[in-house]
Amino acid sequence: MTHGVDQSKAWFERASAVTPGGVNSPVRAFNSVGGTPRFMVRGEGPYLWDIDGNRYVDLVSSWGPMILGHAHPQVVSAAREAAASGLSFGTPTTGEVELAEEIITRVDPVHQVRLVNSGTEATMSAIRLARGFTGRSKIIKFAGCYHGHVDALLAQAGSGVATLGLPTSPGVTGAQAADTIVLPYNDLEAVRQSFVDNPDSIAAIITEAAAGNMGAVAPLEDFNAGLLELAHEHGALLIMDEVMTGFRVSRSGWFGLEGVPGDLYTFGKVMSGGLPAAAFGGRTDVMARLAPGGPVYQAGTLSGNPVAVASGLAALRAADDGVYRALDQNSQRLGALFTEALSTAGVAHHVAYAGNLITVFFTEEPVRNYHDATNSHTWRFPAFFHALLDAGVYGPPSPFEAWFVNAAMDDAAFEIIEAALPAAARAAAEATQ
Ligand SMILES: *Cc1c(COP(=O)(O)O)cnc(C)c1O
Repeated sequence: MTHGVDQSKAWFERASAVTPGGVNSPVRAFNSVGGTPRFMVRGEGPYLWDIDGNRYVDLVSSWGPMILGHAHPQVVSAAREAAASGLSFGTPTTGEVELAEEIITRVDPVHQVRLVNSGTEATMSAIRLARGFTGRSKIIKFAGCYHGHVDALLAQAGSGVATLGLPTSPGVTGAQAADTIVLPYNDLEAVRQSFVDNPDSIAAIITEAAAGNMGAVAPLEDFNAGLLELAHEHGALLIMDEVMTGFRVSRSGWFGLEGVPGDLYTFGKVMSGGLPAAAFGGRTDVMARLAPGGPVYQAGTLSGNPVAVASGLAALRAADDGVYRALDQNSQRLGALFTEALSTAGVAHHVAYAGNLITVFFTEEPVRNYHDATNSHTWRFPAFFHALLDAGVYGPPSPFEAWFVNAAMDDAAFEIIEAALPAAARAAAEATQ
């Protein structure tokens, strides 16, 4: 580290005085890896710069959205142009229609969408809609899957909930928790049994189309198809949460790779180009139950915000086949570098992919669910993470997250990663429990 982290440290102290834990989203606080969270001041292409002047190859990409890299010229100019025409109207706008059309064109089973402001809002609204549509109250979710901080979906959730080791969150009422059935991921038999045990009361199964919030854990071959079949057999809906995978793992998200159609979908991250915008959508007969046409209420003062919509639309329009090829190649290239360095250092590991989402698990066993993920040698992770960070490679500060490549990564960025990895792998090898 050439410039130190004094300024980040000072700002983190100031932040901690005025914001709980110093952050506006828990994983940013570095709790599971220790050390000082970096205050970023600029991003361009594959790089971020912190306030102390350190440059990093960014393998978080704002937790997914920045598939084109940072400050992509077309996205920035679309946002700037929209902003100059007014920041918010609270009326319908043409951009909202175009963004909805772009999403529907890309994801076949989605016939209508409603725009919201975050992935959390998208899953919360999709669940309310599924309950309203079916007249049932229970929801099946899978341990280690994260669907935002919706009360009913926090039980055994992934992402920051996993990072902090919380079984569930105080503040979620017993009634809300009681309506959530948590099952192991990739276990169809558990789902089958659950429908038997809860006759006519399960409104929906919600699943990450491919899990990315316990690290990247792809669904087993017949898992999603089996979920769809079981849901429909029992009069329930299948909600495919593609907030992370949508428009990242292919132009049509995980659906584009697998082709199993959900009844409802949730999107966020990539579809906003980096501003706050998200969406839920799906079958017309289900979406028709939303207000104002139907009785299920859902609304938002800033929903479909013109600047966010312009940014999202520009990002999706720039995300052509070349971009998706680059994402896939960059993810494979990163995985090969991980494997090479960790094998050389003699660290038991397994590079897992879900499309171009990628995670290093410190175990040689296959990771099929949250239990497997937590049983890996996660104690090796902080040393690995910090050695990379010190050498200018910014990975996710938790062993339960995917690493997000972007299409702006070039040979120079990969050379930095390649140079950083041997020491990081040795640090992982030397880490103790
Ligand atoms: C990030 C994420 C969410 C929550 O989105 P926010 O915009 O952070 O509220 C929901 N589901 C999945 C699969 C996610 O990865």
